[in-house]
Amino acid sequence: MIIVLKQGISDEKVDSLKRWLMEKGLDVAPIYGTEKTVLGLVGDTSHLSVDEVSMHDAVEKVLKVQEPFKKANRKFHPENTIIKVGNLEIGGKDLAIIAGPCSVESEEQITKIAQSVKKAGANLLRGGAFKPRTSPYSFQGLKTEGLIMLKRAGEATGLPIVSEITNINYIEIFEQYVDIIQVGARNMQNFELLKELGRFKKPILLKRGFANTLEELLMACEYIMSEGNQNIILCERGIRTLENYTRNTLDLSAVPALKRLSHLPVIVDPSHGCGLAWMVEPLSKAAIAAGADGLIIEVHNNPAKALSDGPQSITPSEFSYIMPKLREYAKLEGRHINIPHTIAYAGTPGSFANEAAEKLYPNSAHTGLEHFEDVFNAVLNGSAEIGIVPVENTLAGKVSDVIETLENGNFEVIDRIKIKINQMLVAPAGTELSAVRKIYSHNKALEQCKKFLSTMPDCRIIPYSTTSAAAAAVAALNDKCSAAIASENAAKLNRLIILKDNIQDKDENYTEFVAFKLATK
Ligand code: PEP
Ligand code: MN
Repeated sequence: MIIVLKQGISDEKVDSLKRWLMEKGLDVAPIYGTEKTVLGLVGDTSHLSVDEVSMHDAVEKVLKVQEPFKKANRKFHPENTIIKVGNLEIGGKDLAIIAGPCSVESEEQITKIAQSVKKAGANLLRGGAFKPRTSPYSFQGLKTEGLIMLKRAGEATGLPIVSEITNINYIEIFEQYVDIIQVGARNMQNFELLKELGRFKKPILLKRGFANTLEELLMACEYIMSEGNQNIILCERGIRTLENYTRNTLDLSAVPALKRLSHLPVIVDPSHGCGLAWMVEPLSKAAIAAGADGLIIEVHNNPAKALSDGPQSITPSEFSYIMPKLREYAKLEGRHINIPHTIAYAGTPGSFANEAAEKLYPNSAHTGLEHFEDVFNAVLNGSAEIGIVPVENTLAGKVSDVIETLENGNFEVIDRIKIKINQMLVAPAGTELSAVRKIYSHNKALEQCKKFLSTMPDCRIIPYSTTSAAAAAVAALNDKCSAAIASENAAKLNRLIILKDNIQDKDENYTEFVAFKLATK
């Protein structure tokens, strides 16, 4: 509300007006112009009528500034709202990392995913049990049975759970089983559902509808808050625009905008935001940089067979690979991501080094770094506790620069493992072996496949940082004349086909990896 004062009115009358307003719990901010003085009122003026204020002697005119949303508005609640769920404070220093499958599919599936996302640093578990699918013929979820599985997986791992409600009738079941109730994009304006949820105390994760403005999202919030429930987490999950390369357009400007307009925590869903698994990493980084209080990421143990949203789901090893990278972005923003135990290996998910890391330390988070020296640096600067590097290959011999660094006195070797190397020529679906003109791989792998390469005289050989990065590169090129020499795992992860199996010169091909930590001096 803005009050324009009469010209030349006495200070006494102005003071009396100010006192009266302040007694009503409002802050008065005067603005002195050359001709007129204006008082701006800060606070909840919903109980104050224009007529009531106009009757005062000092007042010339009263302007009601409409703030359509009140309870969610930062103007009336300048402090950030922090929502407590278990030990986690959403909106506090720790980022909320919600991970899990789009749908709960079986007890085994949700339990395995819960264990792997937990060890990589997730602090909440997601899983849909009542699925609002676009087609009635698509999988509709395991309903209450799915919620029970989700709760059991959450209890086994100590992770609070998040699941989507689609109907008022299920409220009691959700009260019983779920820690945070998600309202999905399709129900953001289901006002009857919102009002009902307002009568409960459980925190609500309110997703923005695909065609809704930020103001409409905040008005939806108001429906819940005006009934009493103030525990709302807002979620940007992508909106419809004319762009159709991605499933939705992730509107990251919503994060700073919502944080400015509202005191509620804001999280980002990069998975639904783009619909593409490979884009989850860069969008998660961007969301953290934009000031998000957390992320909700779809993680599935077998995305190709997922009953919903497979193309946008990342695997547990991809999740574990990106988390330590996100932790660095969080640090820049003064926020934390806590990862219990980090193992760094040279390579990307799907590399033989990744396989070595998973076999040696199945209960830790594994992150792949591009170069050997990055792994040494990660252990030196403490961002990884253990590093994994190759030291010898049956065919290509010792990796001398790695061995030299390991012996420089900074590190201590604590474990070793031999991994059977089976090299394959891999390429995007539709590529013919006879059409291949470029072959990408790491030098060591190229050396191991000399005989095979001599049968491909028309090909240009392009050395690459790692075999798995070479596989990712040909997947991105998708030009039907480029192939990579890489592992079966790398082919699977990058959705590549195998053009030729077992192409190493000798079948007895092993690489020995060592695990090392900082030397105790
Ligand atoms: C989901 O989280 O799986 C989901 C259906 O999300 P949205 O409502 O954002 O589409
Ligand atoms: Mn989904």
